[in-house]
Amino acid sequence: MKKRKKIPVWKPKKLLVQKKLKIETKQRSVNKKQYDYKWREVSKTFRKNNPFCCDCLKSGEYNSKNLHVDHIIPLVEKPELKYEVSNLQSLCRKHHSMKTFKETLAKKKPT
Ligand SMILES: [Zn+2]
Repeated sequence: MKKRKKIPVWKPKKLLVQKKLKIETKQRSVNKKQYDYKWREVSKTFRKNNPFCCDCLKSGEYNSKNLHVDHIIPLVEKPELKYEVSNLQSLCRKHHSMKTFKETLAKKKPT
């Protein structure tokens, strides 16, 4: 009787990485749950009250597409102002990325 060849268990690396990621997201979601639900509510209400991009409005444009709720003082500087409505503004995707870009530049070159 011939011995059966053992079939090697094939473990693709990808799977292992996914497993690791899953664990990491699990740990992260603990914080996320507490913060993000509130943030979703705050930003939803804010967008309802401020349905146009703040910067577009300055040039007389009523832009309500791809609105982001932006923190005027970035969260990295004042994380405690995350839900502070007076620190929020609606920005379209273009203006939001412009602001983020400026902030990144300012961080690199402190004045
Ligand atoms: Zn805009």
